Amino acid sequence: MKPFKNLEVWFVTGSQDLYGEETLKKVAEHSQEIAAGLNDCPIIPVNVVFKPTVKSTEEIYATIAEANNNTNCIGIIAWMHTFSPAKMWIRGLSILKKPLLHLHTQFNRDIPWSEIDMDFMNLNQSAHGDREFGHIMARMRLKRKVVGGHWKDENVHQKINVWARAAAGWNDLQGARFVRFGDNMRYVAVTDGDKVEAEKVFGFSVNTHGIGDLVKVINEVSEAEIENLIAEYYEKYNVVPNLQKGGEKYDSLIDAAKIELGIKRFLEEGNYKGFSDTFEDLHGMKQLPGIAAQRLMGQGYGFAGEGDWKTAAIVRAMKVMATGMSGGNSFMEDYTYHFDPANPLVLGSHMLEICESIADGKANCEIHPLGIGGKEDPVRLVFNVAAGEALNASLVDMGNRFRLLVNEVQAVAPVADLPKLPVARVLWKPYPNMNDGCAAWILAGGAHHTCYSQNLSSDYLEDFAEMAGIEFVKIDKNTNLYQFKNELRWSDIAYK
Ligand code: MN
Repeated sequence: MKPFKNLEVWFVTGSQDLYGEETLKKVAEHSQEIAAGLNDCPIIPVNVVFKPTVKSTEEIYATIAEANNNTNCIGIIAWMHTFSPAKMWIRGLSILKKPLLHLHTQFNRDIPWSEIDMDFMNLNQSAHGDREFGHIMARMRLKRKVVGGHWKDENVHQKINVWARAAAGWNDLQGARFVRFGDNMRYVAVTDGDKVEAEKVFGFSVNTHGIGDLVKVINEVSEAEIENLIAEYYEKYNVVPNLQKGGEKYDSLIDAAKIELGIKRFLEEGNYKGFSDTFEDLHGMKQLPGIAAQRLMGQGYGFAGEGDWKTAAIVRAMKVMATGMSGGNSFMEDYTYHFDPANPLVLGSHMLEICESIADGKANCEIHPLGIGGKEDPVRLVFNVAAGEALNASLVDMGNRFRLLVNEVQAVAPVADLPKLPVARVLWKPYPNMNDGCAAWILAGGAHHTCYSQNLSSDYLEDFAEMAGIEFVKIDKNTNLYQFKNELRWSDIAYK
């Protein structure tokens, strides 16, 4: 079963009438076989749907218009089996609203050395047919992904998988609603930004509700619902003794469950895909949502603290992209550094809200004081995170554009027990190394808030940024600070 069983990408083959019926019949057969082969490929997470060969300006326009209007279609894979004069594509491409992948392939893998004749040459023209197609897209400055290679090559399948998953995340954001309870954390710059521009660029809306609207829903939660949820807590987590029934903090667990149920109902009733809150606006709430945010993220909702709607949205999009993959995606914050030259590390965490999807093993459910927000002690899940390749992604508003900044990192196993640290945490080493990775992040203006991913490589985010038409900046093993500064400088000109 495909992870995105209701989503499709359309396989569209370009040609022209000049070739005559026999050749076009072969073209159709071949493209059907390729579409079916990609559809059957277990790496590709969406349905690949064959579309009849397009041979004229009108057919191209009609197919693209249909793709735009089809709600299951999240993108188009285009391939020119033969030569499809690209002026025919201008009208259609100019209305294209869905992500485009140009598959630069050929039906035959090998040249049939002893058989090849002019008939074969006439049929197998993508080596130059795709160049004509590539030219018009370059000329039109179209955002697209180009994948070169034979269609049976696993490397090609993997690139299509990455693009299709990015397209699924992009598709999910179109018309998505996010709710922000209260405003941004006072005076903070990087978590704020232009919500109107974001709706224009990314397709999602962010609207505010006063915390009182949420408190009203929280207060309507029934005792039976709370009891059921607490039973789930006991089953799923190691709940500390003072939160057990009869324990001195049991009432706080009731409050936490009530908050979780209330937020979930608010999100469901408002058809929201994510939310943000802030410890500075909790009127009528007994505690800052801790376990609630951790578990709702675990269920696929986007979340970020302190009114950070941009990070909530990117957390949601990344969770969708990673559907069915092992590992998780979480709201994250670069919290504290370990500058030991022999083993430099970043400790990532938040005051409470790290998604349970990245927990290594069974989490503890604990309660501790929180020295900020002036509310009762919040219940939270405490856990470590496994070692492995990972990344942090940050969406920032540069004033005239959005920048998606990614730092590839290597998560490492806990180097010591942290008996007094009452929050979920992860340790990582940034690439290319601690000092340059951190310096590059600061130069690029990346936020302290990110989405931490265990299962998406930066390729997914690069494709996503291309679909959004925004700037993509990557800090990885090859980052050199001198070149990096130039890249930022030159991008400023490119986006002027
Ligand atoms: Mn924060």
